[in-house]
Amino acid sequence: MQKFVAKFGGSSLADAGQFKKVADIIKARPCRRYIVASAPGKRSSDDIKVTDMLYACYDKASEGEDFKPALSAIRERFNEIMSTLEIDFDLDSEIEKIAEHLSTNPDKDYMASRGEYLNSKLLAAYLGFKFIDAADCIHFDANGRLDNDATDEGIFIALKNIDYAVIPGFYGSLPDGSIHTFSRGGSDITGSLVARAVRADMYENWTDVSGMLSADPRIVENPEPIDAITYRELRELSYMGASVMHEAAVFPVRKANISMNIRNTNRPEDNGTLISAELPRIPRKRKVAGIAGKKGFSAVLVETPSMNEEIGFGAHLLNIFARHNVNFEHLPTGIDTMSVVVHNDEFSKARNDIIDDISNEIEPESLYVEDNLALIAVVGLGMAYSRGTAARVMRALADSRVNIKMIDQGSTEINIIIGVDEADYETAIRSIYKALFEND
Ligand code: ASP
Repeated sequence: MQKFVAKFGGSSLADAGQFKKVADIIKARPCRRYIVASAPGKRSSDDIKVTDMLYACYDKASEGEDFKPALSAIRERFNEIMSTLEIDFDLDSEIEKIAEHLSTNPDKDYMASRGEYLNSKLLAAYLGFKFIDAADCIHFDANGRLDNDATDEGIFIALKNIDYAVIPGFYGSLPDGSIHTFSRGGSDITGSLVARAVRADMYENWTDVSGMLSADPRIVENPEPIDAITYRELRELSYMGASVMHEAAVFPVRKANISMNIRNTNRPEDNGTLISAELPRIPRKRKVAGIAGKKGFSAVLVETPSMNEEIGFGAHLLNIFARHNVNFEHLPTGIDTMSVVVHNDEFSKARNDIIDDISNEIEPESLYVEDNLALIAVVGLGMAYSRGTAARVMRALADSRVNIKMIDQGSTEINIIIGVDEADYETAIRSIYKALFEND
């Protein structure tokens, strides 16, 4: 039988109604064997996530204040699920244990982890699956860094003889046995680690959207969903600001060559976005997967006659940036010109020193910094096998009177990067989207 790992996020498990949907999804396919659960999330936009309630409750306890009302509000969130679904579970003794912990020596990570812990216990009881505690199989080193080998082995051994299990997301344990959490949203990482350890056929990530969108919906109205995308394309898009999964959650499954499917708990009939090493087939029309972009870049333009004849010029110039701990993002060059595109977060701290060093060491004929640059990435593997995408992008920008400040295409032709003035950013994204997605 195939083996799927299915992770359900906080909004998917926010209340009894959502629990029911999740159980229906799991029971619909017996291959959904290992379930990773988040803590109950928001039930509406003005609601509070249980994880945030737990942090607030911890704050009260650690300041010596009365934490009981905060803890009983947390109890109530779980009680609603338990009593509505008539789950046979001893919630009161679990809450009692937490209260005891809080009155002795409260620990922040322990407290935060109780959302995933209790929700997974409830879900396991509801489904009739075994509960496997992440503290017993996900291991961090003494510095709080994930111990990959010990974790891979720990999960593998814990699940080896178990057909169906629920594992809480978000936490594991330190060498001394105490609880340690990932950063916020970390249940995605747990899901990915479980999928890798059990050599899953698929890592399903169930959330409240039907997958990734081909452009930022705050800029483009109703952008098309992405039905399939490769890990390479995903990386390009997320690097350029598309909000998808945390890199740490993608890495384990990508490396183990396991496909990931982002799905919507509230619309299980949608296929969502399938992320894999290769596209199932390159659909002929699908040249571009998506468009993403970011503001906040600068380009340092250096011009010097006969630059092309000077061996080591580029290395020298880049070394100045490296010395000041500034990464370069792109490097468009001409015969006698080179522009180093950098992100302002890093560049602004060392700007004057870098300019001084370039002037003194390279003595360029001209040196100029272009600020307020936005970069836009048009990403798609299909571009390498087809003609005309770049032309359509340029025409669209010209038609909407956007001045292109920079163009860079990686040698693998997976992306085209375009630099525009920040003021033109939204117009540029909209016009590129229209040209590539709406005129097919
Ligand atoms: N519950 C945790 C959070 O709210 C982790 C997660 O849901 O992934 O960040």
